[in-house]
Amino acid sequence: MVARSISFSIGGRVPIGGGAPIVVQTMCNTSTDDIEASVAQCRRMAAAGAGLIRLTTQGLKQVESLRIIRDRLRAEGIDTPLVADIHFLADAALAAASVADKVRINPGNFAKDHDVACAKFRELIGLCKQHGTTIRIGLNHGSLGERITQKYGNTPLAMKEAVMEWLRMCVAEDFERVVISLKASNTVVMTEAYRLLYAAMRDELGLLFPLHLGVTEAGNGDEGRIKSAVGIGTLLGEGIGDTIRVSLTEDPVREIPAGEAIVAAVAAGYTPRGGRTAVEAADWNDFIIKASCLWGPSLLAKTIDDFSLESSTIAGAPVAADDAERFRDMLLQACRRRFTRPEYIACPGCGRTLYDLESTFAEVKRRTAHLAGVKIAVMGCVVNGPGEMADADYGYVGEGRGHVTLYRGKTPVLRYIPQEEAIDKLLELIASDR
Ligand code: SF4
Repeated sequence: MVARSISFSIGGRVPIGGGAPIVVQTMCNTSTDDIEASVAQCRRMAAAGAGLIRLTTQGLKQVESLRIIRDRLRAEGIDTPLVADIHFLADAALAAASVADKVRINPGNFAKDHDVACAKFRELIGLCKQHGTTIRIGLNHGSLGERITQKYGNTPLAMKEAVMEWLRMCVAEDFERVVISLKASNTVVMTEAYRLLYAAMRDELGLLFPLHLGVTEAGNGDEGRIKSAVGIGTLLGEGIGDTIRVSLTEDPVREIPAGEAIVAAVAAGYTPRGGRTAVEAADWNDFIIKASCLWGPSLLAKTIDDFSLESSTIAGAPVAADDAERFRDMLLQACRRRFTRPEYIACPGCGRTLYDLESTFAEVKRRTAHLAGVKIAVMGCVVNGPGEMADADYGYVGEGRGHVTLYRGKTPVLRYIPQEEAIDKLLELIASDR
């Protein structure tokens, strides 16, 4: 059976799937209720070339805010499709179906009772049909329900199985306007989950729904870009993926050039099968993306253990020895082959973040740089943070305004402490375990 690639356009403006150009998207980290800040950020994102813009839409109030933001942007001539990011509240998803161009949900979170969740999902499909709205089913590693994990563990297979349940329902309801994401911060888990899903859609459904690729909680700076290039570049190089988001704990506008650079690197043959053996880069950022797309997939697959940068150049000059060494360490760690530095898992922040995540994460990195091999998560909120900090040894999780809860593994050990004390307490906690 030859699988049919599903394609459509989001908001009637952005084609996706079936060989359409890869859509590079991003997400606001403003409070959606702060209309001025959100409109201003969307404006900058649109100017940077965002193909889609997502906003936190946790409740009915935020759906109304999204409506105002949408109308303000449209009045300015900015018609980038907007995505409502719903996590738990089915009623918010139902309301957003007539406001947003796309609604991102994890239907398993709609209700504890699976039958109730199915009924709500069906209702949402009906509304999305009516309004021409796209649904993104977004399941992250760490956000799977017990019903699935008891059967399959917290594995890529479980992620695939969970999505397939909802996809079968979409097919039964004759609803094809669906995009899927299966993100993880671990690049091995992430690539495996997408491959399993791709094969299941092809072989079981005979339908290839568009895929949204991303490495969650990738962090910032070089590490965040390298980790994202490894996960996203590996799959794009295999012909898997239709839209991407590089999640960075930075100004989200910077996610756009990072995403575009990954797409361009893969298109230019920086993949294991692209015929290139060295990197020719314009600058450092160009170099780390191209080199990660070129060697990351083979390191992930363990078909190579190392790589040579001898013939690679940045702006026509050989790569400096210390830069080459630093990059080698970061790439091997992103591919989970060798851990020579702390492993950071940091969410990009969103409308649920109630503290300055970017500067806090930078400070946590600065003060824990000596802790090679320790996995430290810095998460914006307690709603999704603990579930999504994967296999972190320690977690720094925002809990309400100005307060933080510290975790050892999945266990909260210091609850609701003032943010000013939290990094000191985190270091004390780590020291007490060593
Ligand atoms: S963990 Fe919370 S704050 Fe961070 S991106 Fe996810 S929902 Fe937003």
